[in-house]
Amino acid sequence: MATTIRCSRCRRRWRGAANWNITLDFGVPTEIICPDCQTPDEHAEAEINEATTEVSVRSGRIAMHQKWTRP
Ligand SMILES: [Zn+2]
Repeated sequence: MATTIRCSRCRRRWRGAANWNITLDFGVPTEIICPDCQTPDEHAEAEINEATTEVSVRSGRIAMHQKWTRP
């Protein structure tokens, strides 16, 4: 069964983009906001996530991994 994750505000479907603002509670998304619905503050946070975090979804749970740049 595929889990559909949608924007908490406009219900747009999320397809794994890291520039969405995702609030997690033990790997389960409690709030997820698409770029169009983000406030400037939320957008800044999402930009940081996109630069530093890799997002993947498995069985409806979101896993976020730190992106490390090796020296
Ligand atoms: Zn939205």
